[in-house]
This record gives sequence, C-alpha cells and structure tokens, in this order.
Amino acid sequence: MKWSYRIARISGIDIRIHLTFLLLPLFFGLSDWQKGGAAAAAESVAFILVLFFCVLLHELGHALAGRVFGIRTPDITLLPIGGVARMERIPSHPIQELAIAVAGPAVNVVIAGTIWASLALKGGPVAGNHLDGFLSGLATVNIGLVVFNCIPAFPMDGGRVLRALLAMKLRYVTATKVAARIGQGIAILFAAAGFFWNPMLVLVAVFVFSGAQQELDFAVAMERFMERLAAEQDGGGFVLEPPERRP
Ligand SMILES: [Zn+2]
Repeated sequence: MKWSYRIARISGIDIRIHLTFLLLPLFFGLSDWQKGGAAAAAESVAFILVLFFCVLLHELGHALAGRVFGIRTPDITLLPIGGVARMERIPSHPIQELAIAVAGPAVNVVIAGTIWASLALKGGPVAGNHLDGFLSGLATVNIGLVVFNCIPAFPMDGGRVLRALLAMKLRYVTATKVAARIGQGIAILFAAAGFFWNPMLVLVAVFVFSGAQQELDFAVAMERFMERLAAEQDGGGFVLEPPERRP
C-alpha cells in the first residue's frame, strides 16, 4: 500500500503503518490538550496507541487462522479506520473463510474478557482511578469493535461470515454477488450516517464500497476463467493460462 512503512515484523508478517494513521493520535492529542492540558493529551494518545495494538492483535488473529489453512499473510497495514491483513490467496472452502473471519473479533472478545476479569478480581474498577478508567474504556471499545465488525458489510468480517454461509448453499460467485450488494447497501447507509455524526464513517463507507466491488470483480473473473478452462477441457484443447493473457 502506498504511503505505508514497515514498523515491525512478527512471525514473518510485515507490520506496516499508513502515514495517515498518524493523524489520529495527533487529532485526539491536540483536541484533548485544549480541553485538559498535557496530561489529558498524553492519556488520549496512549489510549489510541493501545487501542491500535488491540486492532493489530485482531489482524494477527485473522493471519494466524489463515496460516492454519496454509494461507500466508505477507503484511498487515494499520490505517486510521482500522487494520488490513493482506492474505496471499482466498480460502479454498467457505468453512475456512468463516474461521478466518471469526478469529479477528474473537481476539477482541478475549482482550475485553481478560480486562474485565482482572478488574473483577481486584474488587471492580475504583471510581476516579485513571488506570481502572483507562482499562474499562479499552474493554468497552474492544466490544464496540466486535459489534462493528459483525455488521454484514462485506468485505468487513461480518460480511465475510455472510459470504461463507451463503457459499455453503450457493455458487461462490453468486454468494459473493449477494454479499457485495448487501455490503454496498450498508456502505451507503454508513456514508449517510457519517455526514451527520462521524466523518470517519464516510471513510469506512468508501473503503467498504470499493472493497466489495473489487472482491466481486475478482469472483466474476475467477468464474469466467474456470468456465473457459472447463470448456477447453471439454474440447480437448486444455491450456492452463490466466484469462488476461489469452487473446
Ligand atoms: Zn477483522
């Protein structure tokens, strides 16, 4: 991805950060500085950084689930709207796509559960305690991430679960078409809501809408390729060559 830089390498996966990501701590840091001074700004920046560490763990969840099925993840990129784990190929079976999609949000459930359990063990969060407030907020935002990711806006996680479930009954390309159109419908709702409440949602909408179209185009191209391959096999002239290289 353009404008992204490698900041670490974990288990063979490049962890990259997109330059626009830096706008996020800058924006929240400056706005909280105006409201509560340097201490408030530092706490706000720390919260954003720890939250994005949770987003990174979410993406690593997808990547490690992919590895179970022999799918490599060359890199994970952190953007202001979240993380993207780029896998080298699509899962070959719907149940694999389902497991990979669920693995990300499952990580956030584990994080929130661990925080809540540790706070409960010490008798619950103490009112006015900064660290307790920080941790409670982090657990709540992690659950927020799970809920948001479960929205069936393909290619977000919930949408991938939807496509996987549809693909168990329908042809892969038909399942992708249905999931992509639902995803694009929800993206339009995100954009409309974003104009009134949160401009970040408009960015998510653009990301979802174009992502759904790319996945749909890919599924259609794959189906045409497979059809051509099948036709050539029937005609005895079997040649294994990608469709774009054929006359
Ligand atoms: Zn995810």
